[in-house]
Amino acid sequence: MYAVRPFKKGQYIVTYRGRRIPNDEADRLEARGSRYMFEINSRWTIDGSPRWNRARYVNHSCRPNAEAIERKGRKIVYVARRRIKPDEEITVDYGKNYFEAFITKSRCRCPKCRERRALQQKKRRARHKRLARKRLAGKKGRSRT
Ligand SMILES: [Zn+2]
Repeated sequence: MYAVRPFKKGQYIVTYRGRRIPNDEADRLEARGSRYMFEINSRWTIDGSPRWNRARYVNHSCRPNAEAIERKGRKIVYVARRRIKPDEEITVDYGKNYFEAFITKSRCRCPKCRERRALQQKKRRARHKRLARKRLAGKKGRSRT
């Protein structure tokens, strides 16, 4: 989801809407493939699957510009963590459990993870080059003797 107007730090963005269901029911739905379960506390989860829940279009980021806040123990709203400019993608951190189960470090598409992977790849390539040079040097050495 992209911002269509600017948001100030702390400003309300959108509510995570949906049916409130017990956690065990949410676990069952998640096991069957539901990906929009938002656990509010040890008993209740919001099933945000319906398309009218606009908050479900907010992607995960490991460096998010919005955060989920619980209101009155039954409602989840997203608010800006910092100033957000129009056309910026709005992102939240989906949390450790969701991240490890469904996203993982090797597949996360947030800028932070892409940067990290690009750097790793660069290092890997540099290492291959170093090894290739070594092999070449070794061969030269052998051919001389
Ligand atoms: Zn990430």
